[in-house]
Amino acid sequence: MKKVHNHEDVDIVIVGAGLAGLTTALALHRALVLESSGSLRVTGFALTLWTNAWKALDVVGIGDSLRQKCIQIKGLKMVSPYTGLFTSGQPLDKDEKL
Ligand SMILES: Cc1cc2nc3c(=O)[nH]c(=O)nc-3n(C[C@H](O)[C@H](O)[C@H](O)COP(=O)(O)OP(=O)(O)OC[C@H]3O[C@@H](n4cnc5c(N)ncnc54)[C@H](O)[C@@H]3O)c2cc1C
Repeated sequence: MKKVHNHEDVDIVIVGAGLAGLTTALALHRALVLESSGSLRVTGFALTLWTNAWKALDVVGIGDSLRQKCIQIKGLKMVSPYTGLFTSGQPLDKDEKL
């Protein structure tokens, strides 16, 4: 993303360089992003993105490059915390069987 040095060049200011702020900045092409944190923080082990999020990432032009780095969830399986046995499942793809 282009760094803006002259703040008078921008008419949109986004506060917070999180998912929402950075994606909005990509969509607008011309915005100043202000972030209070001094560095990028990586926390957690995974990020689950649903269909609407992928649509937004496609609109800003980064969906395909991110898809190459992702694992697609085929479905959900429920396991009893008491017995450890599989109780139910939900395929997320219409052709998928669990
Ligand atoms: C443990 C955990 C797991 C999650 N897992 C998922 C998941 O799997 N899938 C999913 O879709 N969502 C998940 N979420 C939710 C997701 O992280 C949030 O919905 C998303 O990060 C919100 O994005 P945001 O840009 O609105 O806010 P944030 O990502 O919180 O970004 C806000 C940014 O604004 C900055 N900021 C705050 N105040 C100021 C200020 N005054 N001045 C300048 N900068 C400021 C902060 O430093 C931060 O960088 C998870 C959340 C948590 C906590």
